[in-house]
Amino acid sequence: MTTAISRPRRPAQVADPDLPDAWAMARAQLRASAARTGIERDVVERLSHCEREFTLNFPVRMDDGTLHIFTGYRVQHSLARGPVKGGLRYAPTVAIDEVRALAMWMTWKCALVGLPFGGAKGGVRCDPHSLSDGERERLTRRFAAGLVPVIGPAVDIPAPDLGTGPQEMAWFMDTVSMHVGHAQPGVVTGKPVSVGGSEGRAEATGRGIALCTAWAADRLGIDLHRSRLVVQGFGNVGATAARLIHAQGATVIAVADAGGGIHREEGLDLVAVARHARIHGTVAGFPGTEPVGRNGILEVPCDVLVPAAVEGQITSANASRLSCRLVVEGANGPTTPEADEILLARGIPVVPDILCNSGGVVVSYFEWVQDLQQFFWNEAEVNARLGAIMRTAFEATWDRATTSGTTLREAALDLAISRVAETIRVRGLYP
Ligand code: NAD
Repeated sequence: MTTAISRPRRPAQVADPDLPDAWAMARAQLRASAARTGIERDVVERLSHCEREFTLNFPVRMDDGTLHIFTGYRVQHSLARGPVKGGLRYAPTVAIDEVRALAMWMTWKCALVGLPFGGAKGGVRCDPHSLSDGERERLTRRFAAGLVPVIGPAVDIPAPDLGTGPQEMAWFMDTVSMHVGHAQPGVVTGKPVSVGGSEGRAEATGRGIALCTAWAADRLGIDLHRSRLVVQGFGNVGATAARLIHAQGATVIAVADAGGGIHREEGLDLVAVARHARIHGTVAGFPGTEPVGRNGILEVPCDVLVPAAVEGQITSANASRLSCRLVVEGANGPTTPEADEILLARGIPVVPDILCNSGGVVVSYFEWVQDLQQFFWNEAEVNARLGAIMRTAFEATWDRATTSGTTLREAALDLAISRVAETIRVRGLYP
């Protein structure tokens, strides 16, 4: 009998037909950064490709007795700086180019916060909310079993992402452990604490976003206590970020998920909204609020906007209509390069994804270290170390942007990519 944590059936993450090509966007960012920092062609060429790419077509027995073949990917972008790290995404939109882009961004993210990891990403094309707990477990276990030859604590350590969470990570860890013949908690992070997870991991990404919001607001002279906050995406990242930024004094006036959004200018009761979302599978329809579209929410006037859903949400089509003073990117790649230009011209700063959502991978690193040492830290210790690492990265990024006259995104990319390039240069070319 499964002890899976039950989930309400939620609206599927829907593919936006005009979603920009994330892989083209990620490679363009690399080329632009290399041109700014003078990285040589050979290194750029090596970083423009993902080192290893695995595609798995694997069978899963569905509850109705039929057999369904799912397609999953694991992409390891750069192994130069250490084992690779990155999440596993369950969504109908999962495609190889998206996974490549996300893997490349993980390389930069790990380098920016100084972790001894390269970047990876993976996913299975499916609608996790239409699967039963049993189907999700069988899918996860079969996918994990297929990945056994190419992952491991010294090679590649997956983690949760869109559509996955602690339960999937526990199944993943158990499956790999069965294959190697002993408990192997260090093969995956974001696990429940009872199977070697870290205190503070569940909240880490949202906590990092809240920290970056406070530091950026401070630098920009925005008083968080008088600020209105809007959050797109009400999952692990968005809901936690909303709660923790609210705890710093901001009023959360609008939130949205794939099922739609809600707006109440006087502020939302986040505990009640979360309860409503648990019961109904979406925040939409929460009593006493105005409905707002899941994309329209981005245009609700506010002080701080946190896109924390999926990539490609702030585009050339809507960037001129954003009505905020600061964008803090919770999601990976939510802003297209064209939108970046528009926001720059409008004087709206964007704290970039690879900086402000790095809290998840930082505490994943802590989890991996704790699993390898079998020596566990308390939550206060985890949060203090997280804050220290993120503060260093935030200050370095902000200072570089100020001194070099670039955007925060360009500064973060330049710092990160230069570090990876230096590692590749020093290691040289084998054979
Ligand atoms: P999640 O599955 O827990 O939540 C995603 C949320 O976004 C849900 O509320 C979903 O309904 C909503 N959503 C999906 N498509 C939407 C759309 N088109 N419009 C509005 N809302 C939509 O996922 P998560 O872990 O919170 O991840 C969110 C983002 O943060 C992703 O981009 C992910 O890559 C990134 N991220 C996650 C972590 C982590 O630790 N989980 C770390 C770093 C970055």
